[in-house]
Amino acid sequence: MGSVGDAGDLGGGAGGGDEVFVRAGATAASGAGAGGRRIFSHPQDAYCVAYHVGTLAAFGCAFWVYQHPQAAGIAGPWSRAAYVIGAAYVLGWIAAVDVGVNFHNHAHRPIFTSGFWNRWFGRLWTFSGGWPSFFWEYSHLTVHHAQLLSEVDWTLPKKRADGSFEDFRVYALAHWPWRYFVHLYGDLIAGRGMRRRALRELGIFLALWSVPFWFDWRMALCLWVLPQWMANTTVMGPGMYAQHAGCRRKSAERPVSHSTVFLSKFMNLTMFNIGYHLEHHDHPRVHWTELAELHEKLKPELIAGGAHVVEYGMFHAAYLLAGDEERQKRFAESAAGYEKGGVMAEGRGRGEAVKGEAREATALGD
Ligand SMILES: [Zn+2]
Repeated sequence: MGSVGDAGDLGGGAGGGDEVFVRAGATAASGAGAGGRRIFSHPQDAYCVAYHVGTLAAFGCAFWVYQHPQAAGIAGPWSRAAYVIGAAYVLGWIAAVDVGVNFHNHAHRPIFTSGFWNRWFGRLWTFSGGWPSFFWEYSHLTVHHAQLLSEVDWTLPKKRADGSFEDFRVYALAHWPWRYFVHLYGDLIAGRGMRRRALRELGIFLALWSVPFWFDWRMALCLWVLPQWMANTTVMGPGMYAQHAGCRRKSAERPVSHSTVFLSKFMNLTMFNIGYHLEHHDHPRVHWTELAELHEKLKPELIAGGAHVVEYGMFHAAYLLAGDEERQKRFAESAAGYEKGGVMAEGRGRGEAVKGEAREATALGD
């Protein structure tokens, strides 16, 4: 594992808007640097491929069971319905992690040294989550990362007059695919700049995505469309909401208030360290395996800046955010020991905060 200090950083703020396009050139450069011999850009990128192959295998197994109801004991309508609901949720969860986190990491740091492989594996990666890879990359890199929490970051929930996010359920249900479709159509297809490429990518996606329908359209609706809907509305959407709810746009006064950090070990272990979200936005080119190390390195900065750090995972946060005012307040006020710096941000002097850092860093020690 390399040092996080060596990692490149395209930046998550202004100027990062071209990251999606910069990526292809950066990939070619890294491949040349590797002498064309290494397959993966980072040794642990093999896990990313294994996860995606496992995701496709899970869909394949679910399809097989559906096609062999006698062997699987789901020949009756109720047993089949129970199977579909259970399988759709499990598949949805797996597919959401595969696109929202696993492919997400590839979008920032392509896993292969070959640009060709990055492009084609990417196309074969996101279709099982209901996304064309190019559209997902555009939404995440060019819109979300480059414009985080600004008026034009349409990947996030709409804001009320007081700046708070719209209701959790409205966002989860309205965003995918409806609002995404409207925005992506407007940005990529209605405009002339990227239309040709967007249409080509959409065509490739539709060809791949339609495959289960060729075999059995009922099965495709139950074990392909339904899991993808669950992936986007019950896992990816809530995750996105929780990552930035109650946050403020990055500024000189509030440099670390744009995202929440989730310290749940279980979640970070099973979701490619996505809980270190603030660190990821500030250093999007740092490899996912190095985010925990980066978090330790940035800890004094997070404490001094009053970062919102919680000890649980994103889905407990989503549970709190989906509740009444009292539950939402619990999320806003929960902290894993990083809260005192927030007092500094509101009025304490820098010197006092720095003195406090040493104390808190000790208290937060492993
Ligand atoms: Zn990202």
